[in-house]
Amino acid sequence: MNENERLELAEILFPNIKTTRDEIEKKYPERELNEGAKVTRYAPSPTGFMHVGNLESAFLDYVFAKQSGGIFYLRFEDTDQERYVEGAYDLIKSSLETFDIMPTEGALSDGNYGPYVQSERKEIYQTYIKDLIINGLAYPCFMTKEELQEIREGQELRKEAIGVYGPYAADRDLSLKEIKEKLKNNEDYVIRIKSPGKNDETVTLHDLIKGDITMPENMIDEVIMKKDGLPTYHFAHVIDDHLMHTTTVIRGDEWVPSYPKHLQLCQILGFKVPKYAHYAPLTKKDEETGNIRKLSKRKDPEFSVGYYEEAGIPAEGVKLFLSTIVNTNFEEWYLQNTDKSYLDFQFSFKKMPTGGTLFDVEKLNNICRTYFSRISALEIYEKSSKYFEKYDKDFYKIMTSNKDKLISFLDIERNGKRPRKDIATYKDVKDESLYMFSEYFFEDKEKAYSEIDKNSVDVELLYKYLEVFDSNDDNDTWYSKIQTLASENGYAPSTKEYKNNPDSFKGHIGDICEMIRHVVTGKNQTPNLSNILNILGKEEIKKRIEFFER
Ligand code: GLU
Repeated sequence: MNENERLELAEILFPNIKTTRDEIEKKYPERELNEGAKVTRYAPSPTGFMHVGNLESAFLDYVFAKQSGGIFYLRFEDTDQERYVEGAYDLIKSSLETFDIMPTEGALSDGNYGPYVQSERKEIYQTYIKDLIINGLAYPCFMTKEELQEIREGQELRKEAIGVYGPYAADRDLSLKEIKEKLKNNEDYVIRIKSPGKNDETVTLHDLIKGDITMPENMIDEVIMKKDGLPTYHFAHVIDDHLMHTTTVIRGDEWVPSYPKHLQLCQILGFKVPKYAHYAPLTKKDEETGNIRKLSKRKDPEFSVGYYEEAGIPAEGVKLFLSTIVNTNFEEWYLQNTDKSYLDFQFSFKKMPTGGTLFDVEKLNNICRTYFSRISALEIYEKSSKYFEKYDKDFYKIMTSNKDKLISFLDIERNGKRPRKDIATYKDVKDESLYMFSEYFFEDKEKAYSEIDKNSVDVELLYKYLEVFDSNDDNDTWYSKIQTLASENGYAPSTKEYKNNPDSFKGHIGDICEMIRHVVTGKNQTPNLSNILNILGKEEIKKRIEFFER
């Protein structure tokens, strides 16, 4: 086809496209950013499910843009309209809000490089495709499903590369007359790129995470526009990343094999190639087989981003966990830097794992414990009350009507060198504090005391203790009162004395403390007992002792 024929063909195929490529380019000028600033994008498809790998992607986009003084934008990739699920955008929005990693620009917040929804950019893509047709770099392909299937079967049989290329690209050199004829007969067509690739050439991806990966060059005449006039994902995202000036494409490593295709599209279109960072998938040890496998939607509830909120796992904890996953040196830094946010840490692609990343729920728990141990009792109260308001109205009522009591309880052993680490989730706030509330404690005696051995309690001794109890006592006074109680009632006032002479005592001071703990809390383990007793007060302690028969 000569130049005039190509111009004519372009007009026939895209009569409504009046803009030119240059006009579009002018609308998307270079961004004015400092040297080294990264422009990243989170580009989800609206499938109605957001998994923790998607969250990791958005998290990385957010962190790397923020730390370099760049831009993080959101783009909805909906060219595959069959995958669209109602409510998908709301889910993406609320997840990004929950984790406080909102993009600065894009589909939810607008900006100068939009529209940020691919289905609203049809004219832009078609402008570029029209331009490719004019320049003889793309062509309409009328091959039917059956013809493609036949080619494929032959290729499989002969163990050749699968796809439309070389001798199989039958429509590459159709004349204008032949094309017109087919169009007249209403034959369906797609647009394919004319791949200049050769099967013995290679290309090398300089991946920011994985290093250099060499792959065969693309030689397939890939589809760039589907029958419905919408571009394929491969084509659309190359155009978008170019016009929106993405500097760094951060995406899952399932996209590595597509790199030669994307590189070639950039080259044909004359675009600057962005940098790529392909991160490894999240994996776990399969409970049944013991093998390491990818996280799965079907098997692992923690794969879904919605799981964390419902389970009461704080968003901050999840982000700290993601930080440990993405940078191998983060955890050590976090343990040493007690008063810093994850954003104070300098993230780097070089410290990202190159193979599968183990998603260890135990580690998530531990990091959440550390997180909770570093925030104030008031903050825990406020954050957890939001959780209970939504997920457990009964406890919400109890906690809000006992606000001061709960905060005092949460404050026990919080401010010292080794703060308590009994809380990993908001649910734990309830589980660890329930015995503090008479509403709960007196509801079910059996349940309240299910953890302890009721027969080992010296009830008379506890009544004697009640007589000397004073809720204003500090820890030392409290302890010395118990020592006196021990001496006066046949118990050793120290474990040392008891060990030296076990037969002459009923037990030792520790046993008395345990008895008090058991009777008053129903638990084997609690934070500092004297603090708990002071918060509960004499009347409440008396009621609990009265539970036991004399
Ligand atoms: N829309 C693609 C997906 O949801 C995004 C891939 C990319 O980040 O380039 O998988």
